Formats: sequence, structure tokens, C-alpha cells
Amino acid sequence: MYIELKNVNKIYPNGFHAVHNFNLEIDKGEFIVFVGPSGCGKSTTLRMIAGLENISSGDFLINGVRANEKSPRDREVAMVFQSYALYPQMTVFDNIAFGLTLQGVDEDVIEERVQKTAKILGLTDYLDRLPRALSGGQRQRVAIGRALIRKVGIFLMDEPLSNLDAKQRVTMRSEIAQIHQETGATTIYVTHDQTEAMTLADRIVVMKDGYIQQVGTPYELYFKPANVFVAGFIGEPPMNFIRSRVENGCIAFGDQQVNLKELREDAAGLEGKEIVFGFRPEAAMLQAQENAARIDCQVELTEMLGDNTNVYITCGEAQAILKVDSHDTPETDAPLSFWIPRESVYLFDGTTEEVI
Ligand code: ATP
Repeated sequence: MYIELKNVNKIYPNGFHAVHNFNLEIDKGEFIVFVGPSGCGKSTTLRMIAGLENISSGDFLINGVRANEKSPRDREVAMVFQSYALYPQMTVFDNIAFGLTLQGVDEDVIEERVQKTAKILGLTDYLDRLPRALSGGQRQRVAIGRALIRKVGIFLMDEPLSNLDAKQRVTMRSEIAQIHQETGATTIYVTHDQTEAMTLADRIVVMKDGYIQQVGTPYELYFKPANVFVAGFIGEPPMNFIRSRVENGCIAFGDQQVNLKELREDAAGLEGKEIVFGFRPEAAMLQAQENAARIDCQVELTEMLGDNTNVYITCGEAQAILKVDSHDTPETDAPLSFWIPRESVYLFDGTTEEVI
């Protein structure tokens, strides 16, 4: 295992416990994304890995060797921050070369490595420019170049796209994926954006309030969420949740009853339990299905988004969003029936919110 974090905790000097028992193993070459809402401890964890923040307890290992006390330089990490922090009076070439120049690396070697890095990043034509003559995306690429050129084993990125506009973010996202493919560098990337996490990551670490909620591939997090938080965090619009108590094998979905016995073999064991019934907006079918829960509802509002439409429905007191093909957009203020196939139904414990 290349990087290991074992029971890592961070308690800030003011007593705030920002990261709790963080456990993770990272393979060489993996692209790991830390995702979660603001304040969940993503940056703190990344900064502990970088050596910019001390580790309060637990072990941090690189190549099996404890590295808790190693200085950032000795950890073989390079970090790209949210703000590009380029030197405004230096050309792109000099900005990228800066770290090597400081180390006194031979000029020929610097020239070769800057050219190679610039080629990967599509910056060859901009090497003589000053940062102010670059777009936000180009500046961020220079910042990435400055980290890449150091040829370190571990590449850390803290919200590198957050200063870019929506269009530049999409472009840079695919460029980062490409750079990772070409360099194969082990990367740990922090974001609060689930789309960035889903598109870039080999594995995602979902965090909340300083705790890991789940570690998994994008596929696992989407199809096998461990709890209500992860289920609601991944996916847009988020998963619908209906809280209810299981009575006579059924749960209330607003003014209707959903028979769990038809959906789950373990329904009998859930009798009397408070549960959260979940289904994704895109799982709703407008044609009758076998082995599915049928819900009759009222359409309140539709939002055409291009190829699909979000349909806001009510069913008595219950509310939900369905995502349907735009060609099937239902009428507003009219009744609608939809089906949730058995395999698209998620049940969570009403108290612990863990998946059942
Ligand atoms: P964001 O997406 O907003 O950057 P984050 O998930 O990266 O959030 P962190 O920056 O890791 O969150 O902060 C985690 C928690 O630790 C927050 O509640 C924050 O207020 C707290 N925190 C961060 N730095 C310190 C500090 N120096 N002293 C005390 N508490 C801190």
C-alpha cells in the first residue's frame, strides 16, 4: 500500500475536533477524491497529508514508513491550491520552473522539463506570457504545471477549479483527468462538487462533520449508498426520502400505502420499525412495471431541462421529484401514476439512517 492513514484525528488548538478516526489506504496511481459539505474536514485531512498541519493522533504512512513527523519537502508531495498564487512579474516559463530553479537544477534540464510539462498542459504557446495575460483556466494550468514539474509521488489538489466559471470548470475537469492518465501520479483531490468527484475519482471518500461516511467507487456510491447522507449527497436531483413506520407490511407514502412485502423479502422483519424509504428521481417509471411499487400522485410543477424534465409531485403530504424523458413530460395540475422498480427501492433505518 502506498499511502495509509490509520485512526487519524485532528484536534485544533482551540479544542475543535475536526477529523475523527480517519482510516484509508491508497494505492499507487489512484485518483482519490474527498467530497463533502463545507466544514466536513476535507482540507484539514489533505493538509495533514501534505504536512502543513500536524496530526493530533494516529499514523500516516508512505510506502509503509511512518511519516507523521516528516517535513512537507520530505514527503514527496506537491500541492495545488484554490488560489493559483502565481508570481505576477514572472513569465509562465519562470513560474513553472520556479521550484527547480530554487533547487539549482541545471538550465538544460529545466528547459526540457518545462517544455515537457507545458506540452502536457497545452501551455507551449504561452510560456513567454505573464499571468495577467492568461485566462483563469490557463492560470490554473500553470499552477498545476508548477506542481507537476516536481515529479513527486503524491499530487494534492484543494478545490483547484473553484475560481473558474462553469464552462472552464468542465474543460479543466477533463484536462485534469487526462493529465492523471498521462502522468499516473497518485492524486488526492478535495472538492464539494459531486460531479467533479464522480467524474474524476477512482474512489471517493464522502465526509460529514469530520467523519468518513463511505469510501467507494462512483458506481458503488450511486448504487450502494451506505446511509441517507451519502444517498442524498450523490445524484442530482437528490434521492427522494419518505419517512414512515412499517405497519402490516406496508409504509405510508403520503395518502397511499406501499406494500413492502412485494418489494423486499425481509419485509416481515421490519414490522413496527421507523424507516426511510428512498428512490432516485430517475428511477421512476411512467409505464406499469412488474415487481414495482405503484404510486398515484398529483403533478405540481414540471421543469424542462433539455433531454429530461424534473416533475415535482405530491401524494397527500408527501413530496418527491421524478426525472423523466422530456418527451414524456406529464401535464401540470393533473394526476399521474408512476412505478418504482423493486431494485430501485432503498430502505434506511429511521434512527441510525444506515441502509437496511
Ligand atoms: P471547505 O469546503 O469549506 O473548505 P472543509 O471540509 O475543507 O471545508 P476544513 O477546512 O477541513 O473543512 O475545516 C473543518 C473544520 O475545522 C471546520 O469546522 C473549520 O471551521 C475547523 N477549522 C479549520 N481550521 C481551524 C483552525 N485553525 N482552528 C480551529 N478550527 C479550525
